[in-house]
Amino acid sequence: MRYSGFRVIKEALTGHKGWTPAWRDPEPQSAYDIVIIGGGGHGLATAYYLAKKYGEKKIAVLEKGWIGGGNVGRNTTIIRSNYLLDGNEPFYEMSLKLWEGLEQDFNYNAMISQRGILNLIHTDAQRDAFTRRGNAMILNGADAVMLSTDQIKAEYPFLNVNDARFPIKGGLAQRRGGTVRHDAVAWGYARGADSRGVDIIQNCEVTGFRIEQGACVGVETSRGFIGAKKVGAAVAGSSGRLMAKAGMRLPIESHVLQAFVSEGLKPLLPGVITFGAGHFYCSQSDKGGLVFGGDIDGYNSYAQRGNLPVVEDVCEGGMAILPAIGRARLLRMWGGIMDMSMDGSPIIDKTHIDGLYFNGGWCYGGFKATPASGLCFAHLLATDTPHEVATAYRFDRFQRGYMIDEKGMGAQPNLH
Ligand SMILES: Cc1cc2nc3c(=O)[nH]c(=O)nc-3n(C[C@H](O)[C@H](O)[C@H](O)COP(=O)(O)OP(=O)(O)OC[C@H]3O[C@@H](n4cnc5c(N)ncnc54)[C@H](O)[C@@H]3O)c2cc1C
Repeated sequence: MRYSGFRVIKEALTGHKGWTPAWRDPEPQSAYDIVIIGGGGHGLATAYYLAKKYGEKKIAVLEKGWIGGGNVGRNTTIIRSNYLLDGNEPFYEMSLKLWEGLEQDFNYNAMISQRGILNLIHTDAQRDAFTRRGNAMILNGADAVMLSTDQIKAEYPFLNVNDARFPIKGGLAQRRGGTVRHDAVAWGYARGADSRGVDIIQNCEVTGFRIEQGACVGVETSRGFIGAKKVGAAVAGSSGRLMAKAGMRLPIESHVLQAFVSEGLKPLLPGVITFGAGHFYCSQSDKGGLVFGGDIDGYNSYAQRGNLPVVEDVCEGGMAILPAIGRARLLRMWGGIMDMSMDGSPIIDKTHIDGLYFNGGWCYGGFKATPASGLCFAHLLATDTPHEVATAYRFDRFQRGYMIDEKGMGAQPNLH
């Protein structure tokens, strides 16, 4: 069924009896050509592009819970492509371009809103760094513009520009950045994949890999063995635990990241802002809630909940630039498990086991990467070669010393 304005009117006039389920609930088959583990944004996008772009036929996505229950439905919904390094910027810019056409592509309203993102500047050194980053973005075909303090005052009148501990000295804006309704991305990709024959199997946990003579021939699951010619893992924060079942120790640690939503407020923030003297990022949802977050909790964990010291730290960051939020009440908060890699950049690669492929290490920036990650992982699975914008995202970069250390923090996963 195609969704359209005409369809909404027709259904409204006929008692909404014609809507069909957005995806099926199939029983697992005994074997598939390609099995994707993880029904998050990346796994579902991979299955979608495998079926749509690469014409693959027998595909299953195995999800241990329900689709959208992981980070894809837990993030702060920000999309952007404001990266500095060559290994990253072409990939994230391709992702942003895919976001721009995504709703038409998968025929689903994901509420993509290019309301812009503004990185605030508080020191001269930071202005130099952001100018350099803006130039790198433009060289890679992205958009970037430096804003003066007066321009920021005019666009964001509620920010504390001058009378602040960290006065705002300007900002780097990417007008094409913005927000997307996160769980609608999972639903849109799921519906698009299902309509092309992909089996999306929920409540199906992968508990092991069947490896024979160095090749992966399928997966053990809570619903029995499922054979596969190729297996792709895209389980984000559970990467370490899952790949350990194939005997692999990854250059990845899992950490908790929290997100917060305030009560609904009148319009306060037209776009996404990031604080430059601490870790705080914030946008305002269409319902008026401020959606914000900051640092990870800083200890290794597989729990989907965080602790109070980070709540305090994040709120202090917010108060430093937006004192008005001190009067707002917090409505909801939650946590997600982040797959933090050693250099802060992801991995999309084959493993040393034939037929077993890996996608992970997204740290806390993988939502914006969803379309490009899905496309590049599908390309790798279908062709056995890396996509041209993902050639740097390989396991052996850690061995060869070719880090993609966007933040310059070294092998400190909790700092990326
Ligand atoms: C609070 C928070 C805020 C964030 N904010 C942003 C942001 O603003 N912008 C941005 O770009 N990124 C953001 N991120 C990061 C982003 O959400 C993640 O990097 C990205 O969603 C990870 O990919 P995914 O969607 O595939 O993960 P997930 O949705 O977590 O998918 C992985 C799936 O694998 C399943 N799984 C795990 N183990 C197994 C198994 N053994 N068998 C079967 N299934 C299994 C899980 O149940 C899960 O559904 C944020 C994350 C969090 C938690």
